[in-house]
Amino acid sequence: MIETEISNGWVQFLEFIQNRCSSAEFENWIAPIQLTQVSPEEITLEVPNIFVQEYLLDNFKDTLAHFLPLKASGEPAIVFTIVNLKKEPSSALAVAEVEEPIIQDIKLNYQYRFEHFIEGPSNQFVKSAAVGVAARPGKSYNPLFIHGGVGLGKTHLLHSIGHYCLEHHPKSRVALITTESFINDIVDALRSKSIDKMKRYYRNVDVLLVDDIQFLQNRLNFEEEFCNTFEALINQNKQIVITCDKPPTQLKLSERLIARMEWGLVAHMGVPDLETRVAIIKQKSESRGFCIPNQIAFFIAEHIYNNVRQLEGAINRLCAHSKLMAQELNQEIVEKILSEMFQLSASIKKISVENILKSVATVFEVRISEIKGESRHREIALARQVAMYLAKELIDDSLMKIAASFGGKTHSTLLHAWKKISDQIQIDEALRRQVQMVKRNIES
Ligand code: ADP
Ligand code: MG
Repeated sequence: MIETEISNGWVQFLEFIQNRCSSAEFENWIAPIQLTQVSPEEITLEVPNIFVQEYLLDNFKDTLAHFLPLKASGEPAIVFTIVNLKKEPSSALAVAEVEEPIIQDIKLNYQYRFEHFIEGPSNQFVKSAAVGVAARPGKSYNPLFIHGGVGLGKTHLLHSIGHYCLEHHPKSRVALITTESFINDIVDALRSKSIDKMKRYYRNVDVLLVDDIQFLQNRLNFEEEFCNTFEALINQNKQIVITCDKPPTQLKLSERLIARMEWGLVAHMGVPDLETRVAIIKQKSESRGFCIPNQIAFFIAEHIYNNVRQLEGAINRLCAHSKLMAQELNQEIVEKILSEMFQLSASIKKISVENILKSVATVFEVRISEIKGESRHREIALARQVAMYLAKELIDDSLMKIAASFGGKTHSTLLHAWKKISDQIQIDEALRRQVQMVKRNIES
């Protein structure tokens, strides 16, 4: 392999796993790795600490072997170096002089503010808990434990609390730790023998924001240190907010720490409903100076339903596309651009007429036998046409064969139905949504 190929191999590896691990995992563990040297025999990776190296090898050794040069043993030929500490002092140590006037060296995402957070039934409760905590740190719920799936806005709310506290309680010390940075700080502190200073730093904050605590699992020493810090802060009525991908009881942490985390309020961040997703799409696209028509916003929201980060990804792609091509968006273009993102696309392949009939029958509240029959009753005829439309769209088979599965209809009946529904859904939003619903039903 020549050198550019090898460094491409690393990039390809990154692309490959980016879609296969959670974005938090990627951000915390993979993104900090730097490719520093490439030779035909091996590559050199710079890692922030030994844990990142362990993580990479524990989880991806086999995958790496596909992309990188190999050792004689068949293992990927990687040399690891640990990042030079002096080059980049870690966040905690940089502000560790607690005697100094307050230095707020907290890295908050400037976009992640309460004002930019769209509320809906799934997140109202957790948002108001977050606002409560930010308004009166240490005096309402302590700790506040926010859990929920990936990409639903946990980090967004956590940073919002940080912004709010800095603006409204400027004298308070706010610290944000990702578990990764906490581990780094401890490792660095141990090495430079400043562990006491570091402990003092964390124990002297007024608001401690902890993102993605699940990464503390299986890190016994750190867990203990974290638990001590936690108790020290709570005992002084200092606010702690924690985010996690699961509720405390499902964490593989000590009973002591789990019990502590349940002391305050445990709030669940749910998946936003359709209207909230549409509102998010509208807001995010407008903030990029880009207008997504309602119909398209609904279309996207119907297909990407369990991850707001993916919604953003979709908006970014559409935005880039329409800028590049100077082209108006319509459903077809959107569908094409976003096809990989739509969870359903992968499963379209093995759909049968029976699947479609079942789903249409449920959504349109008619019987399968009626769809297959001859009745011209309006509702039944419509359901039949929708089923035929979807069969032509989703099944890769001859029209004659598909038509025959509808109780022996002809292929021209099928084509006629397909044309009618294709036209109709362009102008009839309710029907379009029903069709989407049928599709989703089939595929789930
Ligand atoms: P998590 O930490 O739960 O994985 P994030 O907080 O990183 O998710 O959110 C992912 C992206 O989605 C962020 O860019 C965030 O701004 C956005 N987001 C999530 N929920 C909302 C919401 N309710 N309103 C506006 N943006 C949101
Ligand atoms: Mg997060």
